[in-house]
Amino acid sequence: MLPKFSHVRPDTLKEVIAILDDNGARIHGGGTDLIGCLRDRVFATDTVVSLSGIPELQGIASSRDGGLRLGAMATITEIVENNVVGNRYGALADAARVVASPQLRNQGTIAGNLCQKPRCWYYRGDFDCLRKGGEICYAYEGENQHHCIFGGDLCYIVHPSDTAPALAAHGAVCRVSGPSTTRSVPVENLHVPPSVDPQRETVLSDDEIITDIVLPAPPSGLRSSYRKVRDRASWDFALAGVALALVFEGETVVSARVFLSGAAPIPWRAKGVESVITGTKLNDATIGEAAEATVTGAEPLSENGFKIELFKGLMTEQLEAIRG
Ligand SMILES: Cc1cc2nc3c(=O)[nH]c(=O)nc-3n(C[C@H](O)[C@H](O)[C@H](O)COP(=O)(O)OP(=O)(O)OC[C@H]3O[C@@H](n4cnc5c(N)ncnc54)[C@H](O)[C@@H]3O)c2cc1C
Ligand code: SF4
Repeated sequence: MLPKFSHVRPDTLKEVIAILDDNGARIHGGGTDLIGCLRDRVFATDTVVSLSGIPELQGIASSRDGGLRLGAMATITEIVENNVVGNRYGALADAARVVASPQLRNQGTIAGNLCQKPRCWYYRGDFDCLRKGGEICYAYEGENQHHCIFGGDLCYIVHPSDTAPALAAHGAVCRVSGPSTTRSVPVENLHVPPSVDPQRETVLSDDEIITDIVLPAPPSGLRSSYRKVRDRASWDFALAGVALALVFEGETVVSARVFLSGAAPIPWRAKGVESVITGTKLNDATIGEAAEATVTGAEPLSENGFKIELFKGLMTEQLEAIRG
């Protein structure tokens, strides 16, 4: 059963920020994650503040410099159906298509997708684990087959969003508003690793809100993709995922941005892969080297060693597909 809380729906961003500033309210985008967290007592609040009454947070529009602005409240379905996304930002289009189910894509927003809480079953259950302010991580010696192989430190979640690695690969930037300032946060710097703070998911403070996500104009020669492997074919979070944004000159990769999902507590930049493939023609030998580089430095837990081969295979298939 849902606990009691007030639900407010301001007309302006200023009012939203004032409410957040005052009383520890929680932001409600589409509510697909927030309401589940409140119902399951993952955290509590007295006030839920809806963003649905603020027109400037809606919509998707091209910008004058050839980029694209996604309003924080743009739904995942709007992104799937947007032609500019489909034609120019392939990784984002691929990622949006595989988020959850059609009903959740209709309701869930892009900012909510980036800020959603982890899916660790201990965290979502009745366990007072470290991320919830307790003493220990139950996953470390427990059921950890879905957990991270990189970046684990005190907490071993994987970041759950499919769109985050794709947006990071495209070099997207969040615009953030707070009580006295606005600032820009690249999606690749939005999430907080547990080594910095195991109880925060994003760098946003409690009174800040994402207003837009801005994609830069795609460079000429860009080819991009996202694919995830999951436990169930219907809908599920990524066991392993690869987002690629490669710029080609002829057959040569001249720059590469590569991010993994299902690998780490944040979208994980695969710098080793980027350096192996940049300046090459992506022949079979290079792809083999890149597959190895995908998992260099990985530290699997007791139950998730299978992710090593999964990531190597996925990277191989995605690089073969993108070279054409
Ligand atoms: C059954 C199920 C399956 C799912 N499968 C997938 C999946 O396969 N892949 C995937 O990526 N996701 C998946 N999700 C997550 C789902 O996509 C997200 O819940 C959804 O996109 C979140 O959007 P929302 O607007 O509903 O977020 P909300 O529930 O409204 O908010 C989520 C969090 O973000 C915060 N927030 C919302 N908007 C803002 C903002 N503008 N600025 C700052 N903070 C904000 C909220 O306070 C809250 O903490 C699944 C969810 C469910 C319930
Ligand atoms: S992995 Fe993180 S969220 Fe899960 S039990 Fe451990 S501390 Fe909690």
